[in-house]
Amino acid sequence: MASAPEEPIHFVLIPLLSPSHLIPMIDMARLLARHGVAVSIVTTPLNAIKFAAAIERDNTTNSGRLNIQLLQLQFPALQSGLPRHCENMAQLPSRDLIANFFQATAMLQQPFEELLDTLQPPPSCIVSGKNLPWTVHTARKYGIPRIFFDAMGCFASTCAHKLEVSQVHANLSKFEPFLVPDLPHTIELTRAKLPENLSPPSQDLVEVRDKIRAVEAIADGIVVNSFQELETEYVQEYRKVKGDNVWCVGPVSACNKLDLDIAERGEKSSVDVKRCLEWLDLWEPGSVVYACLGSICGLATWQLVEVGLGLEASNRPFVWVIKEGRQDSQGMTMERWIEEEGFEERTKGRGLLIRGWAPQVLILSHPAAGGFLTHCGWNSTMEGVTSGVPILACPLFAEQFFNEKLVVEVLGIGVSVGVEAAVAWGMEEKSGLVIKREQVRNAVVKIMDKEGTEAEERRRRAKELGDMAKRAIEEGGSSHHNMDLLIQFVRHAQIKRCV
Ligand code: UDP
Repeated sequence: MASAPEEPIHFVLIPLLSPSHLIPMIDMARLLARHGVAVSIVTTPLNAIKFAAAIERDNTTNSGRLNIQLLQLQFPALQSGLPRHCENMAQLPSRDLIANFFQATAMLQQPFEELLDTLQPPPSCIVSGKNLPWTVHTARKYGIPRIFFDAMGCFASTCAHKLEVSQVHANLSKFEPFLVPDLPHTIELTRAKLPENLSPPSQDLVEVRDKIRAVEAIADGIVVNSFQELETEYVQEYRKVKGDNVWCVGPVSACNKLDLDIAERGEKSSVDVKRCLEWLDLWEPGSVVYACLGSICGLATWQLVEVGLGLEASNRPFVWVIKEGRQDSQGMTMERWIEEEGFEERTKGRGLLIRGWAPQVLILSHPAAGGFLTHCGWNSTMEGVTSGVPILACPLFAEQFFNEKLVVEVLGIGVSVGVEAAVAWGMEEKSGLVIKREQVRNAVVKIMDKEGTEAEERRRRAKELGDMAKRAIEEGGSSHHNMDLLIQFVRHAQIKRCV
């Protein structure tokens, strides 16, 4: 049952089980709780483990004893044809299992509703990952608002919307340029760079996507990990499409103040954090390039090594994050390549390799960080912006090419590595050599240039935006205010329901 008007406000958050939703939604939960409301996060056991310590710290010591519950639902992996411990999209062994994964998430509806029945105070609202369409029906049943978390920024969402409506790209060949219509800036793209939903490489996910799209239009509001000053015109544009209930509440990563929270964000770091910081301490401020292509980069070894070889050729100090345990069709793993090539030995003086999970925000906030080579996933983009470090844009899939346009052409804080075509997630090997070592080298040299006015201006602008980002979530900042407005909206809905 829904709460009475005098009852406290209780947000229930249910993130999509993927790093790019879980990580920012956990931060968002912690930010919400700092505004004095009760928050429950609903996830599965293997995902809960990753965040339990940070939440425990929030409830006991940090920021004055917050009220956050971390609740667990068993994930029906085996019943859905997934491997036993696969509870996160990052663990999917192949693209063929994505539909099974969504089927498993849909099976959470009944246990989720049984859990809602037991909550005290009763739920006031559900904030759900956009890709969990069934939460709309649950919210209707309970008579409470369902707000979705948009894992994209307002610029990317606006571009996607303009293309969806206009279809200007529809009949063009793959590399024929076109302009995204009706935008405040001139944005040129090709069909090769579009996300899968606008230019599908195959029909396997049409049904999953249709279901998500169908309920998107009936959300009661949208929370976005962005801040007003970053993409002002596009927040307005997005509101024109979605209505006034678009709340930018980021950068959510900036809620992590304690070293331990920053170091353990998302996963336990694969590198000894102390060693990593000592290594960074060796370098001049702004001199190190940090390279990480996200949490689920599936490029094959022969594609990925180009990043390492480009970093090496740039002659600059670098941290390179390598996702372990993958093997391409030629049987080559990254580990074998590193060993056979002698790469680690060769770059020992100025390269730090992190195999597995890097403490990304910690590295980016170290004074030595001077450039961030990223695949432009939206969380990474926001974390780059917040750290005030210029960006080397190396987009690979989804809306990442839109994000590249934002950082390079709209904000002027990045350089494009020059990727020309998206790789479809789970089909990366078919894409050829998307990143070339000379491109990586050239982009690094350009961004780390210490003499040119262009590089200097980029650094100045990045730093300015980083300062704005950090202020946005503090009292008096735009995102802090938006969080209050979101809570007010939920409170009004609660009062209206009960009179
Ligand atoms: N991340 C991290 N360490 C890693 C890889 C990723 O901390 O080694 C975090 C990163 O900080 C970000 C998230 O994982 O918060 C990745 O989300 P993003 O939207 O950038 O990209 P995705 O991984 O979904 O492609």
